[in-house]
Amino acid sequence: MPIADKMLKMVAGMEMVKKMFEEGARLKAEHGPDRVFDFSLGNPDVPPPMEFKKVLKELVNDESLGHGYTPNTGYPHVRQAVADYLSDVHAVRLTPDLILMTVGAAGALNDALKAVINPGEEILVPAPYFIGYDHYAFIAGATIKTVPTNGNFHLDTAAIASAITEKTRVMLINSPNNPTGAVYSATELAELGRVLDEASQKFGRRIYLVADEPYRKIAYDVEVPSIFQAYAHSIIVTSYSKELSLAGERIGFLAINPAAEDAGLLAAAAAVINTMLCVNAPSLMQHAVARLQGITVDVSIYRQRRDLLCRGLSEIGYEFHVPEGAFYLFPKSPIPDDVKFTQILKDELILTVPGIGFGGPGYFRLSYAVPDATISGSMAGFKRAIERI
Ligand code: PLP
Repeated sequence: MPIADKMLKMVAGMEMVKKMFEEGARLKAEHGPDRVFDFSLGNPDVPPPMEFKKVLKELVNDESLGHGYTPNTGYPHVRQAVADYLSDVHAVRLTPDLILMTVGAAGALNDALKAVINPGEEILVPAPYFIGYDHYAFIAGATIKTVPTNGNFHLDTAAIASAITEKTRVMLINSPNNPTGAVYSATELAELGRVLDEASQKFGRRIYLVADEPYRKIAYDVEVPSIFQAYAHSIIVTSYSKELSLAGERIGFLAINPAAEDAGLLAAAAAVINTMLCVNAPSLMQHAVARLQGITVDVSIYRQRRDLLCRGLSEIGYEFHVPEGAFYLFPKSPIPDDVKFTQILKDELILTVPGIGFGGPGYFRLSYAVPDATISGSMAGFKRAIERI
């Protein structure tokens, strides 16, 4: 075999995703891009805030700025800026040594998981979940174990308590959630913290809570509570991909709760992994985000699209929970076979992703990081699809 055995399955999985994109591109070429309604990608299309361009221009014209390697953990002034901002938001005293600048949330997830997981250990994830977790678990040599959410995609802490075993090292949560749009409340996070504490004591080993929060700023009328307040042994992994619409620029960070056991050692382990995997986070973007703390894209654009999409689909008869955050809708498939239904939608030139790909069979995912015209133009097709089945 020319490649590693374990890579064969991963390559096959990626081929399927590639095929999906190619099929979308083919349909757009055949029918014209305006006639194809593509809800399949979570690629933010809202422009970055004006401040970003301004800061970037200043940085580009700053002759004193180098373009060499940065400290592996990130520039000290950048980590200080992030620590100061997070200290306010999470009501803790965060120091820069507990911040690690990373290549997006993906980089932070790889660092966090590899830092704490021994091969063969388990990551517990509420389903439905972001498919990238399978990849980060693969890199960490860990296994993903899913645990069902309750009827409205919120945490079922009783199910979590009974799913934890002596192999569980990490509880990985994502709120606001991709693909469901759920935002976990302070009460459910506190309950989760209690369950993780009890289980850690029962099994005599620390279970870490890793909170993947790239959509934290994209929430509608609900507060996204701090996990640092819910559980001491917690790590935030996140990025500026969505909140500043900088997904392609690959900048994010990892932040460790100062109350975590061995927080310093944890930071050191994550830093070593970060150095090994990617050396350092992009230099120019580190400088930029240091000056953009607290700045966010215009979230009202996503809210209007959410409302437009929910109103339209609900009038046609689709069932769903109105998303509390992120930019995804996860409606129930009108037939049990979600793969078949997304095929029917494709016949109407509507591109979506079957729920089974997220560990949520019987549903499908729409990303509303799309122009309003895509939403309004697609409604006739959504109606025909439901009439056809
Ligand atoms: N986590 C979730 C839930 C995501 O949806 C994504 C990207 O879509 C990521 C992590 C990766 O984010 P980044 O592009 O910042 O690496």
